[in-house]
Amino acid sequence: MAKTYDVVAIGSGHNGLVAAAYLARAGKSVLVLERNAWFGGGVVTRELTVPGYRHDQHSMAHIFIQANPLLKNDELGLKARYGLQYVVPEMPMMSLFEDGKTLALYRDRERTRAEIAKFSRRDADAYVHIAEQAAAWLPMIASTLYAAPAPMGASTAMMDQSREGRELWRTTQMSTHDLLVSHFENERVRMHFARVAGENLVSPDEKATALGVYVFVGFLEAYGFGVPVGGSGSLTRALIDAIRDRGGEVVAGVEVERVLVKGGRARGVLARDGREFSAKECVIGAIHPHHLGRMVEGIDPAIAQAAAATEITPNACITVHAALKAPVRTKAGDPLRAVMIELLPNDYERLRRSFDELRYGNLSPYPLVGLGSLSEFDSSRVPPGGATLHCWDYVPYVRKDGRAWDEAKGEYAERMLEHMRSFLTNLTPDNIVAYHCDSPVDMERTSPSFMHGDLHGIATSTYQSGSHRPTPELAQYTVPGIERFSLVGPFQHPGGGVFGAGRATASRIFDDLKLDFDKTVARA
Ligand SMILES: Cc1cc2nc3c(=O)[nH]c(=O)nc-3n(C[C@H](O)[C@H](O)[C@H](O)COP(=O)(O)OP(=O)(O)OC[C@H]3O[C@@H](n4cnc5c(N)ncnc54)[C@H](O)[C@@H]3O)c2cc1C
Repeated sequence: MAKTYDVVAIGSGHNGLVAAAYLARAGKSVLVLERNAWFGGGVVTRELTVPGYRHDQHSMAHIFIQANPLLKNDELGLKARYGLQYVVPEMPMMSLFEDGKTLALYRDRERTRAEIAKFSRRDADAYVHIAEQAAAWLPMIASTLYAAPAPMGASTAMMDQSREGRELWRTTQMSTHDLLVSHFENERVRMHFARVAGENLVSPDEKATALGVYVFVGFLEAYGFGVPVGGSGSLTRALIDAIRDRGGEVVAGVEVERVLVKGGRARGVLARDGREFSAKECVIGAIHPHHLGRMVEGIDPAIAQAAAATEITPNACITVHAALKAPVRTKAGDPLRAVMIELLPNDYERLRRSFDELRYGNLSPYPLVGLGSLSEFDSSRVPPGGATLHCWDYVPYVRKDGRAWDEAKGEYAERMLEHMRSFLTNLTPDNIVAYHCDSPVDMERTSPSFMHGDLHGIATSTYQSGSHRPTPELAQYTVPGIERFSLVGPFQHPGGGVFGAGRATASRIFDDLKLDFDKTVARA
């Protein structure tokens, strides 16, 4: 006998949990099924190395979710009732160059101006200009991030109607490099901001990435980079508490094989173990576009085919999580006081060429290592005096030398650690208690969202963004031809990252079920 719920959600990633939590708040009986033995997908904190050290396996900084009404207005009481807390450090990001020089970005504009002035006074002024523009664009940009995407044609037509809109459109078409060259004269300053584009898994030379600089600076100043107390998984924990508090169930170790569809309407799911779970009102699925054809009964083959053709980035992510006896320091002896630290060469061309090599499926000649040691801000994650280190780099998913990542990842992790030793002190073997490496293959094992190690699910190219993400048919979080079935995931608008995008999916479901979203939220 199938067990029946109002809503069945496939996957306990934060987006599925957010959508399920809003529906539970509206009084719906909710079931969330997770294939892993743990919850959270990319928002998880686990003892990956040794007991007592809690590592954020994937996301560590919660940036874009801070402006989401979910947290901004604490709509589900995650902070007030369920104990979610953030530390917001003054220095969200710092570049550490090979020669020991540093360039930090602060939430405070004047402090950043002074930092950049160490390299160029002209660039310091140019930064202020960019930051002012970023602050002016931020409300408009933020308003597009937590709702279903507006049609591309209408958005472009609207931008084309004013001088400011045309300037915004121009910026959206430029590469980060084009923008940086037109604003900054100093190579180090250019490189610092170019690396920001890399965090979106793209080269600074990729066209249509320049707006990212404004989004990044705008968010950094207005909201900072949130460090969740207790680790990234604290958000998952708070969401699960909110669902269970309303009688909902969140169950681990159940892999959904298929969405059951009858009469053009999703009616439930079939688990790999043969159990069926019925959904009276709707099914929510964290289903990667490449898997939709296989998992959704009766899907239009043309829609499934377009979804299967979505592009995955060639810049796959590889991570190393280390448990340390004592924190690492910069060569100058300073603690790591930024949330994110980028290790950069002394010349910009080297960075650009490293990204180029990934395009050809090669390992980058100069590792593109970024890192964070968030135990600096939250000692609850480590034993007294200890530290965690989270480092990442970009590599091809398929190695040209034919070696499997399962066999080669240890060697690559050692390469990353060795590279870091030329920037940091105290990363000696006797200070490392243990480390854990996730290759791109491990990454996709932890969640199908991270297919081929793409932490955004699919590439963030313009033709797969906004109302075309993942495809024009699927961008409204629904699958045409299948009623009462909704999509969540980093491959949907607004893309990869801890956005709390499940709120936009929930809002669409509320419309479908003729529920009043604003009233439900107001009651909370
Ligand atoms: C290494 C790495 C670092 C990152 N760092 C950051 C960062 O610092 N800041 C940031 O904002 N973002 C970061 N991200 C991105 C961010 O983690 C993701 O975009 C986000 O977690 C996606 O959330 P989601 O809920 O959409 O999907 P997911 O987190 O992928 O959740 C989907 C869940 O569904 C489950 N599932 C899928 N299929 C099934 C099935 N058939 N049956 C049952 N369960 C199923 C999966 O196991 C998974 O738990 C990072 C990602 C990675 C990989």
